[in-house]
Amino acid sequence: MECNSSTELMQNESYCADWTAEIDINLKSVFKLNELRPLQRQTMNATLAKEDCLLIMPTGGGKSLCFQLPAVISKGLTLVICPLVSVMEDQHMALERLKIPSAIYNYSTPRLEVNRIQEDMVNPNGQLKVLFITPHLLVHSYRFMGCLKKSYSINHLARIVIDEFHLCSKSSHDFRDDYEILDIMKRKFPNAPILGLTATATDNVVEDVKEILNIPRALLFRASFNRPNLFYEVLEKPDTPQDTMDKIFHLIEQRFKGQSGIIYCFNRKESEEVSSSLESRGIKSSCYHALMPAPYRNIVHRQWLSGDIQVVVATVAFGMGIDKPDVRFVIHHSISKSIENFYQESGRAGRDGQRSDCIVLYRLADVIRQSSMVFTEQTGLPKLYGIVQYCIDVAKCRRALIAPHFGEVWESAHCNKMCDHCASTQYQVRIKDVTQFIKNVLSTLDAAQRVTPAKLLDAWYGADPAGFKGTSIVAPSLAKNRAERTVAQLLVEGYLKEEFHFTGDTINCYIIPGPNAELLRNDDIKVKIDFVVNGGSETYSMTDIELDFEDEDEGESNQRRRKITSQLRRTFPKGEVNL
Ligand code: ADP
Ligand code: MG
Ligand code: ZN
Repeated sequence: MECNSSTELMQNESYCADWTAEIDINLKSVFKLNELRPLQRQTMNATLAKEDCLLIMPTGGGKSLCFQLPAVISKGLTLVICPLVSVMEDQHMALERLKIPSAIYNYSTPRLEVNRIQEDMVNPNGQLKVLFITPHLLVHSYRFMGCLKKSYSINHLARIVIDEFHLCSKSSHDFRDDYEILDIMKRKFPNAPILGLTATATDNVVEDVKEILNIPRALLFRASFNRPNLFYEVLEKPDTPQDTMDKIFHLIEQRFKGQSGIIYCFNRKESEEVSSSLESRGIKSSCYHALMPAPYRNIVHRQWLSGDIQVVVATVAFGMGIDKPDVRFVIHHSISKSIENFYQESGRAGRDGQRSDCIVLYRLADVIRQSSMVFTEQTGLPKLYGIVQYCIDVAKCRRALIAPHFGEVWESAHCNKMCDHCASTQYQVRIKDVTQFIKNVLSTLDAAQRVTPAKLLDAWYGADPAGFKGTSIVAPSLAKNRAERTVAQLLVEGYLKEEFHFTGDTINCYIIPGPNAELLRNDDIKVKIDFVVNGGSETYSMTDIELDFEDEDEGESNQRRRKITSQLRRTFPKGEVNL
């Protein structure tokens, strides 16, 4: 991680002498932490010295500490403007555990509590250190604003923290009106330093926010998303749980023998299954999920910290406060729900700076499982497709695929061969035109009903015919795993779309034409996808490759086509099979 501008950093370093001791003492005594993470000290120094300051740091980087610790040191109140009540509640609880006086002021705060907060705010000896409020209530409550003015006038307002400050800017993807009105804060409280925090902000957004908040001279600290010691890799997840376990077992036995790691699973049941399968193969492991009683979870955590357990097989419940320095691998047994989640989960590897591996086992079926969970969230699917894109890309530096999600541009040369694509020099990428493929998919979808992705693939490759009766189907001239990857790519690019139906307690996902399918009516539009010809993360037999590039080997591909045709004929005895 590095500071965005060395002059800003140097300018800021001069405050260190004033605050270093107090920061270090409180870090240990109040927060029970051993050392600061990159940019935390600089940010704390800046805000303690009453400078306006913007901090951009990836999720999980430790932004909260940057205002919590100064709040403890400073006299008076640190006001935290935060868009989400659930985030406030989490933070409030964390502060309570640390015995730091804090409160939440929102529309559901009981009358008595409101009175108590307001009295405290205007009392020169008030005890509250941190007060959370939503931007909406802040700018709409006349009474609260009155208290705040009084608090400021008696020198009791130590600083104003604006969480998710990118929301102020219209050029950020999720701009909020409530945030734009925060322009009044600097005008009303010129001497209270502003500390803005976010995980993502481009330079444009930063400039915009400085202007809106009236803080033109604010210091800017930007922590890079890049963790140079982490090796990023995506492996194809095998078809069956048995084969998947073999793959994981071999990785642990061969690459990570005796080393500490985490395996993230889709749900509780899977974490139990994977864990017991590892145990049966002689690897010391335990599952960890939210339904386990807390004391038992603590035992698992402690045994893992001490090395008695080599692998924790966990759901995302395993995360908060996990700070083991020598985690050598994080394996995602199925994909995370977003790049941000993946970054945070995989980021638990290699805290000590030593090389550590972040491996995702990817297959389309897991995308569908995950999408059925996240589709109700407003940005659920786009975020999921971000991680899908990360997994299915066959050529780009994995860091280049992560960077845009954190507002950064990445030069692959800086990767130092620390991802599977940058590390492999052997494979070549060929671009294949899949326009006809997608046209065929669309006509299959027109003809058949309720096509799940699995059914689509099965029907092509000669298995389950249900729902396809009488359908004219064109088998793809792609090896199955490539057809699978192409379907994922078409989802990500909006040529196909997932549609969700509730049936009793279950959610079914069907594939339908996407918003961009219309584009294909225009014959000039061509859809192209990269495929690997040899080596790389996709591995194929020669026949598969020749099948893809059939124009190069007519004979072989025809043979394969005939085989697929005969499979389809068996599957659809009455159906018309067009090849
Ligand atoms: P962010 O807001 O940047 O997403 P948080 O402030 O929620 O991140 O911090 C993420 C986790 O990192 C928390 O569990 C926090 O306690 C922990 N953390 C923050 N700073 C440190 C530190 N210096 N040392 C160890 N853990 C830290
Ligand atoms: Mg945060
Ligand atoms: Zn790379």
